Amino acid sequence: MMNYALTPVHFLERAGRYFPKVELVSLLPDRSEHRTTYGALHRRARALAAALQAAGLKRGDRVATLMWNHYAHLEAYFGIPAAGGVIHPLNLRLHIDDIAYIAKHAEDRFLIVDDALIPLAEELRARYSFERVIAAPLAGRGVPAPYDDYEAMLRGAPAEFTYPDFDENEPLGMCYTSGTTGRPRGVVYSHRSTTIHTYNIVLMGGMAITHRDVVCACVPMFHVNAWGMPYGCAMAGAKQVFLGPHLDPITILDTFEREQVTCSGGVPTVWIGVLDALDREPKRWHLSPGLRLVIGGSAAPETMIRGFDKHGITVLHAWGMTETSPTCTLAPLKHGLENLPQDEQYAYRAKQGIPHPFVELRVCNANGEVASDGRTMGEIQVRGPYVTERYYKMEPDPEKFTPDGWLRTGDVAAVDDEGYIKITDRTKDLIKSGGEWISSVDLENEIMGHPAVAEAAVIAVPDPRWDERPLAAIVLKPGARATAEEIDAFLAGKFPRWWLPDQYAFIEEIPRTSTGKFLKSALRERFHDRNAAGLVRIKREHVRQAR
Ligand code: AMP
Repeated sequence: MMNYALTPVHFLERAGRYFPKVELVSLLPDRSEHRTTYGALHRRARALAAALQAAGLKRGDRVATLMWNHYAHLEAYFGIPAAGGVIHPLNLRLHIDDIAYIAKHAEDRFLIVDDALIPLAEELRARYSFERVIAAPLAGRGVPAPYDDYEAMLRGAPAEFTYPDFDENEPLGMCYTSGTTGRPRGVVYSHRSTTIHTYNIVLMGGMAITHRDVVCACVPMFHVNAWGMPYGCAMAGAKQVFLGPHLDPITILDTFEREQVTCSGGVPTVWIGVLDALDREPKRWHLSPGLRLVIGGSAAPETMIRGFDKHGITVLHAWGMTETSPTCTLAPLKHGLENLPQDEQYAYRAKQGIPHPFVELRVCNANGEVASDGRTMGEIQVRGPYVTERYYKMEPDPEKFTPDGWLRTGDVAAVDDEGYIKITDRTKDLIKSGGEWISSVDLENEIMGHPAVAEAAVIAVPDPRWDERPLAAIVLKPGARATAEEIDAFLAGKFPRWWLPDQYAFIEEIPRTSTGKFLKSALRERFHDRNAAGLVRIKREHVRQAR
C-alpha cells in the first residue's frame, strides 16, 4: 500500500471539494450572526496558511489562538497546521499569569486573537512577547497597532499555496492540562494522532457524525480541541454551529431550535442549566427529533440522562482527558443490554463506557489488574496512538507513566463483566474514611437526583477519628427548599450508612474550573475548618459504632 500521510488537512480538502455549500454558522461575541461555508473555509484556511508562511512561519512553530468558538477559529484549526505550524489554543479563562506561563513554556511565536479579546491579549503581551500578533476583526472594525489585520492578511496572501510534504508524526496542535494542582503541562498532538482520534469520534456508535448532521460543540475550542468535533465535522461534511462565548441555556436552546442541531457535546455544568430550562418550559423549543448530547469532562449524573430522555434527547456519556486527545470511552447501550429492565439500562448508560478501537484500557490497584466484577476499584491506565507518552519539554514522569508504557490517568474506576468502566473519583478526590474509600462522585450524583437540588459537590474534610469524612456542598434550585436532614434521609438506604455526609453546606454556587467543572479544591479550602460558617452537622454517632 502507498505510504500516505494521515493528516486532518485532508479533511479540509475533502470538505472544500465535496461539501462546499454546507454551512458554518457562528454567533459572534457581539451576538451578530455569521454564515459561511466549507467552500469559503477551504479558500480562507489555505490563504491563512500562505500568509503565515509569508510572515515567516517555519515547520513546527507554535501559533497561539486566543479565540472563542467561531468560523475564524476553525480557519486557524486548519490553516495553521496546513502551513506546517502547530495550533495552540490558549484557555482564556485561566488566570493571566497561567496563560502567560503556558505561552512562554510553549514558546508560541505568533498569536491570533479575536478583536473583542484584545484587552486580554494586551495583558498577556505585558508578560510575554509574541513575535507577531494578529487580530480577527469579527466586529467589522479596524484593528489597532501593533496587531496585523487578519482579514488584510488573508486578502494579501500569496495566491499560490502548496502543502508541505507532511510527515504524519509531525506535531499539529497542542493543549495544556487545566489541572487544579501544580503547573499546567503541555500535550502535543500529531497529524496522525488527531486523524485517528477524529475517525473514532466520527464513526463510533454514539456520536456517529454524518453529512446529514448539524453539530454544535458546547465546549470551548480551547478545551482539548472541542473534543475533536471541528475536525470530525469537516471529515464527515457536517454543518457546524458555533456559539462564540454564549453558552447560557437560552442561547443554546434557541440556537438548537433555529439551526435544528442534531448533535452536541459539553460538560455536565452546561447541561444542568439546559435541562432546567427545558423542564420549566417543555413546549417552548421545537428541537430536532433524535438530538443527541455527548456529555463528559466530569460524570454525567444518571438523573440528567433520565431527565433529557423525557424530552426526547439522548445522552451519551463519554470519558477522556487532555492527555488522551481526549475521547477514550463512550457508553452506548451494547446490543442485548437494551432488553434489560429500564433501571439497569440507565445504570449502564451512566457509566463511562467501553474504550474506542485502538484505546487499550486497564484498571489496576496495588495487586495488578482488578477483577471485572463491577466493584473492585483501581486506577484507569490507558495506551494507544492518541495517548501522550510524555508531557512537553518534561522528562517521562513515573508518577504519570508506568514502566511498561501506560498513562496513569489518576481516575479511579471499577470495571464490570461487560467491560464498562464506572469512574468513582479522581485519586485526589476520593474520601478515605477509616481506611475505606467513599466515592464522592456516587454521592453527588445521587444528591443531584433530589428534586430540590440544582448542583452538588462532595468533598473530603479532615476528621480526627476517621481521617476524612464526606461533606456535601449543595446549591438548591431557585425557589426550592430542602433541609440537610431531608437530603440525608433521601440518601439513606441508597448507600452504606457510613458513606453518608456528616456535614452539609447550602451555598449560592459551586466554584468552577476554567473548563466548567466543579472546582473542589476551592470547596476544600473553604470548608477545611470543621467549624466554618454555614455548615449543618448530622449527628451520626450510632453509625460509627456500627462500622
Ligand atoms: P481535562 O484534561 O480537563 O479534560 O480533564 C480530564 C479529567 O476529567 C479526567 O481525568 C477525569 O477526571 C475527568 N472526566 C472526564 N470525563 C469524565 C466523565 N465522563 N466522568 C467522570 N470524570 C470525567
